[in-house]
Amino acid sequence: MVPPTDAPQRPARKRKTRGEGQWALGYREPLNGNERAKKDDNPLNVRQRIENIYAHGGFDSIDPTDLRSRFRWMGLYTQRAPGIPGARTGTIEPEELDDAYFMLRIRIDGGALTTEQLRAIGEIAQTYARDTADITDRQNVQLHWVRVEDMPDIWEKLESVGLYTTEACGDCPRVVLGSPVAGIAADEIIDATPAIREITERFIGDQSLSNLPRKFKTAISGSPRWDTVPEINDISLVGVQHPEHGPGFDLWVGGGLSTNPKLAVRLGAWIPQEEAAEVWHGVVQIFRDYGYRRLRHRARIKFLIGDWGVEKFRQVLEDEYLGRKLTDGPAPPTPEGPRDHIGVHPQQDGNFYVGAKSPAGRVSGSILVDAAKAAERVGSTRMRTTVEQNLLVLDVPESEVDGLVAELSGIGLQADPSPWRRSVMACTGIEFCKLAIVETKQRAIELVEDLEKRLDDIQRDVPNPVTINLNGCPNACARTQVADIGLKGQMVPDADGNQVEGFQVHLGGGLGPDAGFGRKIRGHKVTSAQLGDYVERLVRTYLEQRADGERFAQ
Ligand code: SF4
Repeated sequence: MVPPTDAPQRPARKRKTRGEGQWALGYREPLNGNERAKKDDNPLNVRQRIENIYAHGGFDSIDPTDLRSRFRWMGLYTQRAPGIPGARTGTIEPEELDDAYFMLRIRIDGGALTTEQLRAIGEIAQTYARDTADITDRQNVQLHWVRVEDMPDIWEKLESVGLYTTEACGDCPRVVLGSPVAGIAADEIIDATPAIREITERFIGDQSLSNLPRKFKTAISGSPRWDTVPEINDISLVGVQHPEHGPGFDLWVGGGLSTNPKLAVRLGAWIPQEEAAEVWHGVVQIFRDYGYRRLRHRARIKFLIGDWGVEKFRQVLEDEYLGRKLTDGPAPPTPEGPRDHIGVHPQQDGNFYVGAKSPAGRVSGSILVDAAKAAERVGSTRMRTTVEQNLLVLDVPESEVDGLVAELSGIGLQADPSPWRRSVMACTGIEFCKLAIVETKQRAIELVEDLEKRLDDIQRDVPNPVTINLNGCPNACARTQVADIGLKGQMVPDADGNQVEGFQVHLGGGLGPDAGFGRKIRGHKVTSAQLGDYVERLVRTYLEQRADGERFAQ
């Protein structure tokens, strides 16, 4: 009933607004356990405790908050205790999954390594990590079976060759992705090496940036191929030619995958090389100050940008953090051609680089040592990792190319892989990851071998490698949603109705010209055992039914 106009009006009830934990708006109180741990002690301080206390006292001496939170800032995660099936994840406490060993992530900014550095990583893996090593799809190398007692020695060896693990994980600026062919590619727009160097030297390990709402991922590449997956990073600087000012970067923000995937959006600003670090710093500070901290699943910068929009984000960046206007700039042209740098390619200087595929990122310390030796034998001292889990050797004289390709192939790194081998990726999976539901690495390796036999007759008919990304859970570390065939690990029913390891299928995702997220196909769930059959059927159907030039993602 509408009250008469002269009736006494009840004062409108003030709507309670609940903050999202944005520091800049005064919501400073810790809002969850993660925020509490970061507030109680700067996570970077954990390094001293590891060296002075835990390395002597062993696993049982570690403070639980350090173990499950601050250790990550030093690149350390507890690995999954063997023998606990994925189906139980979610029904038991995370600490029951903890093993007394760690995964150690070594950050490799720009994917740039010397052969000396690669050999050092390999030797550390041999000595302290049961010879395990994985190349990740963020250009890092991860070791497993690491003991806290060995961390001081490991850091000493890494740092003696200029490598470190600081902020390799945690709510902080993670590794800076860079083009693996920066400074050598014939088609490069701008060499982003100086920008990456300035950012890492000035800001990694800076305590004022070590408590962000969540992780912050950076990609900087001057390659026209967009070879650092700029579409799905929190901040990306993408090489572009400005018609008046020359080569620089286009600024993108807010990309990311996981359970709420978003493609990065352009701010329409052109950034010269010498301003890249300052602008990057401004964006990180916005995230630190205005980012949402109340709920972990809304704490990435993409949610802030989704709420603000690009115009407000750019305005806050300019007015509150840079104190000046940015220069408007054009969009970079859509990339063409493969991004993975596999094969033999000419450099600007007349030498060649050789890109070789690791089997779903799985290598070993011994393989890394052998790869470094192989590179040195042909006179190279420079190597690169890629976001497709590949390894590159730079500066190879033409006369040495064939010999190097053969030697790499002999240690399982193929420069001329089948389309299936070339385009498969896998995350860590249940072997070591506490969040995993299914096995991924070994499954991917077996799938490739299976497909090479099953699809041998049509290998040459596949116009573009069909990307197959295996993920052990919904977290999308191996980029589920942007693969032609994205596989998200879960328990699925087999023919007899038993729950077994398998995958929910996402089809038709991609980056570059067809950037978009794969569709989750209702009913397309496949057991791990049936994966070969399923992929074979899909690929044969695609080849039979595709229109001229139609890519798988279309
Ligand atoms: Fe672990 Fe899941 Fe990430 Fe795979 S996708 S590494 S299982 S968190």
